[in-house]
Amino acid sequence: MFETLSDRLTSVFSSLRSKGRLSDADIDATTREIRIALLEADVALPVVKAFVARVKERARGAEVSQALNPAQQVVKIVNDELIEILGGETRRLRYAKTPPTVIMLAGLQGSGKTTLAGKLAKWLREQGHVPLMVAADLQRPNAVQQLQVMGERAQVAVYAPEPGNGVGDPVDVARRSIDEARRQQHDIVIIDTAGRLGIDQELMRQAADIRDAVQPDEIMFVVDAMIGQDAVTTAQAFMDGVGFDGVVLTKLDGDARGGAALSVRHITGRPIMFASTGEKLEDFDAFHPDRMASRILD
Ligand code: GDP
Repeated sequence: MFETLSDRLTSVFSSLRSKGRLSDADIDATTREIRIALLEADVALPVVKAFVARVKERARGAEVSQALNPAQQVVKIVNDELIEILGGETRRLRYAKTPPTVIMLAGLQGSGKTTLAGKLAKWLREQGHVPLMVAADLQRPNAVQQLQVMGERAQVAVYAPEPGNGVGDPVDVARRSIDEARRQQHDIVIIDTAGRLGIDQELMRQAADIRDAVQPDEIMFVVDAMIGQDAVTTAQAFMDGVGFDGVVLTKLDGDARGGAALSVRHITGRPIMFASTGEKLEDFDAFHPDRMASRILD
């Protein structure tokens, strides 16, 4: 993850190491290199521009420091700005005052929603919660069964329409699942919704109908980091069509460049809350902007 970006930035910083102080020309040259590094990492252009402008402004205004040499100062500024672009603080889950807390997952087909439902459910169970996963993806033939498999692996209950009971209405399934959660004393409901291969009106309408029916405490937009800049376009479409409170980045293990991770927060204004880094249920954790920045600059 972020290999090229890391390498690039390291070489930018090492070229500053011999300098006693930075001239405006040095700062211009450095920020130009940072700009190229970010563009090569597939970071969205508006994000690159904002990032570089901030680094330049701060580097120019940097006081001569006893503690840090110019190269270290630039590293610190880039580190701070990376944390900022990744969202600043870790954004934790918001729990409902009166359980159950309802979490709705939305995103394209193949983005990793169903897998994520299992990961999140297990993660929450291990913290002492009693989640219920809900199969409201009735579009994809195997989705219900796939969620049931996830439920077994995560050791978490799954609410699904009865087999043979017709295809069922996802809005109805989602609504009934909340009653079921209350009856069975689940404190968290995780609703897996249908995705399409591309963005379409029907998909957005269905997700919006489910949203209106269950009024989630958290709507999470799940996006495959490997799609790079397309993640930004998809995020914007979901923001307009459904709206969401947070982002989950999946397949970060396959995202060598990091463009989606670095762009999505700035573009949508919504925090990255969780990250998935593999197919196993354990390959998952809360997203920490400071740790991610350190990884990039390591
Ligand atoms: P959905 O259509 O959005 O429900 O997506 P799925 O949960 O079915 O995931 C699609 C594919 O991506 C499956 O083969 C998953 O095993 C795989 N997958 C999900 N999350 C990750 C991840 O973080 N890393 C990797 N490498 N594969 C993942």
